Amino acid sequence: MKSAFKKGRMIPRVKGKKRVIKTATKRLSRLYEVKKLLKEAKKIDIDPSEGKLFAYVYETGNSELQSIAKEANQMFHQSNYLDFTVFKSAMFFEKEVIKFAKKIFNADDGAVGTFTFGGTESIMIAVKSARDKFFNDGKTGKPEILVPYTIHPAFLKSADYLGLGVKKIPVGRDGKVVVDELRKNITERTALVAVSAPNWPFGVVDPVEDVAKITRDYGIPLHVDACLGGFVLPFFERLGINVPKFDFRVDGVTSISADVHKYGYAPKGASVVLFKNRELKKFSIYVDVSSPGYVLVNQTVLSSRPIGPLASAFAVIKYLDEDGYVKLTRNIVLARDRIAEGMQELGFYSLFPLESNILCLSSENINLLDFVVNMKKLGWHIHLQREIKDLGFPWSIHLAVSPVHLNKVKNFISDAKKALRMKSEFSDIDLERDIQKVVSGIISGKLDASVLPLLVNYFPQDLAVDMIKDTVISWFNE
Ligand SMILES: *Cc1c(COP(=O)(O)O)cnc(C)c1O
Repeated sequence: MKSAFKKGRMIPRVKGKKRVIKTATKRLSRLYEVKKLLKEAKKIDIDPSEGKLFAYVYETGNSELQSIAKEANQMFHQSNYLDFTVFKSAMFFEKEVIKFAKKIFNADDGAVGTFTFGGTESIMIAVKSARDKFFNDGKTGKPEILVPYTIHPAFLKSADYLGLGVKKIPVGRDGKVVVDELRKNITERTALVAVSAPNWPFGVVDPVEDVAKITRDYGIPLHVDACLGGFVLPFFERLGINVPKFDFRVDGVTSISADVHKYGYAPKGASVVLFKNRELKKFSIYVDVSSPGYVLVNQTVLSSRPIGPLASAFAVIKYLDEDGYVKLTRNIVLARDRIAEGMQELGFYSLFPLESNILCLSSENINLLDFVVNMKKLGWHIHLQREIKDLGFPWSIHLAVSPVHLNKVKNFISDAKKALRMKSEFSDIDLERDIQKVVSGIISGKLDASVLPLLVNYFPQDLAVDMIKDTVISWFNE
């Protein structure tokens, strides 16, 4: 390269024009080829902005918000969060995001937080904090977490990764943890109790105040998983809707997780976990000073990662502020109630009184698997949830309602009507006879994960887990 430049000349000396043109053409065509591949891959996916998803991506329908989020993400996509003493923007953004979270969860000045890349990571470091506190307090044996049956699997995963046991507590007909059962299961090995506000499957808020009375008596940390509702429930209150108290106003709550990449409306890779005090956060941090390389200081599970998602979360929060969230929450409530009403006319009913952004619907005479698969054909994604015989819950469908859905209600209900009249593929399925058909449908990709509950319900859990692992490996490797 050096030799191609003559002193004082900005344009490289080149041998032949033809060769230059040839190289440039080659480069351009490669660029074109890559862009084409990207566009083709994009077409495979459902477009979240269409508002036909009831999970995964939580849309506002606001293109200005989209564009500032994208810009922030791109501006910081090459900055490394690993060393926030070098890339100091990370500290600036994180402080601001945590400040906002502390405000909406009524944390006092002593509370501290951490920005993570998702709910699972927030939960994992909260569980690590509880585990390390357990041993620091001089307790022995295998620490255990107590959770309602409805808790997010991220807690089971964290316990699995971090070597804790899990005890699952039943929920009542209202979908909420049975407080007396929880009390009975506390032992000297209980390192953490976790409940949800709201839980994913049913969308109801656990009785945090009642649970906190118990954990306070025993001096056990209490985590509230507000990953799903953390950026919605505080604004219900602002709209005058009654919400059971679940945040730091409840004495005994020691940590809270909330996903900014769900109803905080930031792109994926954004969540926060708040600790009541510095001591609890200290247990969540990992530091290594023994290595001959660099001193490793990790507040989170991941080390090197882009600052982009944090910058984006900051931008979205600054852009919306509390008033923006209140407005979007109002749209959610309107959409939720209209969908519930329309679905009721079609023969569905809500399993629980509505208290969050989640609809959990069932029906006595509709085959829900057929419904979900037929809706899929019309472009809508809805989760199917299997029955829980032990606790008396029937099969149900799950809709996480977003602000974008407010303009889609009519469309949704008319497609739902259509779906109910469409050909039925599963209503008389006999699993004994047809299981091979269902399994090969999933393996070949003809059926997507929305039918997995069927499989899970049919096979013993160990076998189902094993089959799913094999299937996933096949998907990515064949
Ligand atoms: C989504 C969710 C999580 C996990 O969040 P990820 O961001 O997917 O890791 C945990 N708890 C609840 C209640 C959730 O809805």
